[in-house]
Amino acid sequence: MADVLYDVVIIGGGPAGYTAAIRGAEFGLKIALIDSAEKLGGTCLHVGCIPTKALLFNAELWDHLKHAAEFGIAGIGTPTLDWAAVLNRKNAIISKHVKGLEFLMKKHKIATIGGFGRLTGPAQGGVHTVDVTTAAGEKSKVNAKNVILATGSEAKLLPGLQADSTILTNIEILSIGQVPKSLIIIGAGAVGVEFSSIFRSFGTEVTILEFLPRIVPVEDEEISKELTRLFKKRGIDVNTGAKVEKVEKTDAGVKVAYTDANGKPQVKEAEKVLIAVGRSGRTANIGIETTKVELERGLVKVNEAQETAEPGVFAIGDIVAGLPQLAHVGAMAGMIAVAKIAGRKFRPIRRDRIPGCTYTEPQVGSAGLTEAQAKEKGFEVKVGKFPFAGNSKATIVGSHDGFVKIVSDAKYGEILGVHIIGPQATELIGEAVAVMELEGTVEEMMYTIHAHPTLTESLLDAYGAVEGMAINA
Ligand SMILES: Cc1cc2nc3c(=O)[nH]c(=O)nc-3n(C[C@H](O)[C@H](O)[C@H](O)COP(=O)(O)OP(=O)(O)OC[C@H]3O[C@@H](n4cnc5c(N)ncnc54)[C@H](O)[C@@H]3O)c2cc1C
Repeated sequence: MADVLYDVVIIGGGPAGYTAAIRGAEFGLKIALIDSAEKLGGTCLHVGCIPTKALLFNAELWDHLKHAAEFGIAGIGTPTLDWAAVLNRKNAIISKHVKGLEFLMKKHKIATIGGFGRLTGPAQGGVHTVDVTTAAGEKSKVNAKNVILATGSEAKLLPGLQADSTILTNIEILSIGQVPKSLIIIGAGAVGVEFSSIFRSFGTEVTILEFLPRIVPVEDEEISKELTRLFKKRGIDVNTGAKVEKVEKTDAGVKVAYTDANGKPQVKEAEKVLIAVGRSGRTANIGIETTKVELERGLVKVNEAQETAEPGVFAIGDIVAGLPQLAHVGAMAGMIAVAKIAGRKFRPIRRDRIPGCTYTEPQVGSAGLTEAQAKEKGFEVKVGKFPFAGNSKATIVGSHDGFVKIVSDAKYGEILGVHIIGPQATELIGEAVAVMELEGTVEEMMYTIHAHPTLTESLLDAYGAVEGMAINA
């Protein structure tokens, strides 16, 4: 390997790294992709996006089956959950996609190298060298004109805790032997609320403990409020402003001591606890200290082309500072980094044009500024809101909860933010991102024909609502 000079060596084969590899190859660059895991795909494919969405689909089907009679489907009897089969299906989906990735690597003639990659310092004569150590301890070197760091992230644990079969992170919970009777979830960002939704559907008693005043705290306040209301309706015990003091294992499972929002000490016991308090970038032991690469609270600082302060060293994905840790953000960052390396045109990532999707029941999809952020930025804000209760397709699919909220600029009518909670919100948000990318206005969207009967008509009505002119509400 050391005698080959690659255009780019990428350390990390998650969605950021493998996307950069493929797009780089499409640009005609000679690419090497290093990953220390047994299989390509990273957190997203193995213990993140894909397995959680597989389980959420099981949960959705299960919820529908429970109401089959309402849809005129009789004779189902009492459905039972075969948890082992649920996990097998999830694992089969992962395996299928791993094979797909392996195929794509071969198709694009990307050299895949198994092992742990480490920068050795700045380029010497324009050539960077990455040390690679395999699981068996064998060492080799990879030389390239550019390096892309894409090592991803891992779950943060609370001080003094270690993950095991009772104290869980996203890794352990995705292969637990059976559905727990009770589960405490510490942290109510996307990961925490998605697991709440999955296990509540399967009958688990779920308690959420969130330190901040609201769940899904990055969302518009009205979205947090509605999700809280609907989670409570589903029987999820939602506690915000809750400061966890101690997590202790007991004979029966786990005991969590916390101070509630009123400052009162409380104790909650359960079979398992999931720690979902955020993720730290994997920036240790990858040789950053041998370079000029700068960190900001443990994450790598980059410019709009994903370049670090070390010439020829780029960073993408969850290790990057200032961007949300999402697979689609990492993938786009990867495409930008290789475009820069190949001397091609690119558009930098805009923080206010990133869809954020939470695949709970009900789903949340949002993009752009929240109402509060738009006001903080000095816009004269005009808001339109339309409830799914007025949408005919929502009636057909039996899902009337939630709403679409449009945040617009009163002066020019530009759409600044779209916030959706309700059926297929994670699909509907695609329209909103495209409209904002093209700087669309409320008026333009009010005269854009949306097919009937579809959930997308809820957006049409919400654009109308900005001018006080929704049709169906
Ligand atoms: C439960 C859960 C659900 C999620 N759901 C979603 C979702 O629905 N949508 C979404 O957009 N995002 C979701 N995410 C976030 C998403 O998984 C991450 O944003 C994404 O995986 C980041 O991609 P990445 O390529 O930066 O890193 P990773 O996917 O973490 O991949 C990094 C890779 O680098 C390898 N590696 C690390 N260090 C080295 C080294 N030194 N040498 C060689 N290889 C190394 C690792 O083995 C790994 O394969 C979810 C996350 C979790 C935990």
